[in-house]
Amino acid sequence: MTKYETVIGLEFHAELKTQSKIFCGCPTSFSNEPNINICPGCLGLPGALPALNKRVVELAVKAGLALNCAIQPYSKFDRKNYFYPDLPAGYQTTQLPLPICRNGHIMITDSDGNLKKVRINRIHIEEDAGKLVHSGESISGSRYSLPDYNRSSMPLIEIVTEPDLSSADEAKQFAEKLKLILEYAEVSDVKMEQGSLRCDVNISLRPQGQKEFGVRSEIKNLNSFRAVQRAILFEQERHTFMLKNGEPLYQETRLWNEAEGRTRAMRTKEDAQDYRYFPEPNVPAVIVDEAWIKQIAAELPELPDARLERLQKEFGLSGYDSAQLVANPLLAYYFDEVTPLFNEAKTVTNWLIGDVLRLLNSLDDELESIPIAAQDFAYLLTELKKGAINNKSAKEVLEIIFMEGGKPENIIKDKGFAQISDSVLLEDAIRNIINKNAGAANDYRNGKMQALGFLVGQVMKETKGQANPGLVKELLEQSFKSE
Ligand code: ADP
Ligand code: MG
Ligand code: ZN
Repeated sequence: MTKYETVIGLEFHAELKTQSKIFCGCPTSFSNEPNINICPGCLGLPGALPALNKRVVELAVKAGLALNCAIQPYSKFDRKNYFYPDLPAGYQTTQLPLPICRNGHIMITDSDGNLKKVRINRIHIEEDAGKLVHSGESISGSRYSLPDYNRSSMPLIEIVTEPDLSSADEAKQFAEKLKLILEYAEVSDVKMEQGSLRCDVNISLRPQGQKEFGVRSEIKNLNSFRAVQRAILFEQERHTFMLKNGEPLYQETRLWNEAEGRTRAMRTKEDAQDYRYFPEPNVPAVIVDEAWIKQIAAELPELPDARLERLQKEFGLSGYDSAQLVANPLLAYYFDEVTPLFNEAKTVTNWLIGDVLRLLNSLDDELESIPIAAQDFAYLLTELKKGAINNKSAKEVLEIIFMEGGKPENIIKDKGFAQISDSVLLEDAIRNIINKNAGAANDYRNGKMQALGFLVGQVMKETKGQANPGLVKELLEQSFKSE
């Protein structure tokens, strides 16, 4: 029986983090009100001329550097012509034969655990189209659709990989890493749900060992990396079925349907458009010299791979712990702020990837920063280490600050979280417990060591959890010794 192997290439669109649009001064800020961030330029009105936003070029170069690309000293823009109401000019300004970046790569791990280089063919700059708001749920059932041009001419980069990926897992890994790199590089917001990062999948199957590629499908409408994975698994099965049954496959664009968990054909190559690409006459060529590249490279912060290595080398963290931190830039940056103030990296990490992450995930809104100042967090960990509060109280203080704000020292005082570390106060409670639990006390005297744990628990109960358990244990042992 023929065995097939899967060939996958990914195409990403990332919205660039600029203040204004690519060819006009309109703001890029999000608005629920349609058609307010518009002007004759981004409406494609006759006579309006484009002026390329310098920051767009800088961010595209930054992305290229972060993704190990060769930055092209000379690139230019082209018109891609098609007619659709979301594209008022009748063409999209993009880059076809001479993109700004070429030949990059990202390293991933294949299913055998080996490092694998996935090549990036190109990154080019282009403008986004507007959006159609349908009167009904979808275009098919709607009586009318209204165009919103707020998104028209927002700056994008398109990142195209070589067909180097061979499974849903590899594709997910690549996509997650790409997203993280763009996020650390501060090139894009990379929010898939909000559309600032979009991913299309190209997939084909071929008999194992065959050199030529099989017929490919292009999958669009993928709103999460999970959808990317599911769509690939679905297409793998569909292609296998077609090939095994000798059914013809067509090169076509298909749409992922999240609810149905399947793809459906959107258009085939026969009705593929001829975009009549030609050079954009109104935007001059983009010249990027070495000095400018150096300047942009200097803006690049530490990227995920370098950070992973540093966390392990400098702090002795495990690969797993470092990866957990790096996967969330908020946590990674916070780690850098906290460790100079409280220098037990492993303790800080456990708190960050444990309680802090849990609290972050429990909030409805995504936070821009961690809502407890690094100094306050370090103070809390220091108090815990000193035994001035116990672990349970420390967690509660953290939760209160997350939900309501406040300073840890005040919360500890107000809530009475300070541990009883006064041996005189504790001795009373200890005497009490020994008297009340004569059985357990005798067990301990007769060498049953577990009885001590029980007695410590009873003292903790009696002091409503406020006692310092280490001190209680010590005092109990002393009291038996001195009998
Ligand atoms: P187009 O211009 O039609 O979009 P490209 O050649 O630019 O085509 O390729 C688009 C994407 O499809 C790239 O990521 C590429 O790696 C991928 N690709 C090309 N051929 C195949 C194939 N046979 N199977 C899977 N992916 C492919
Ligand atoms: Mg394409
Ligand atoms: Zn405009």
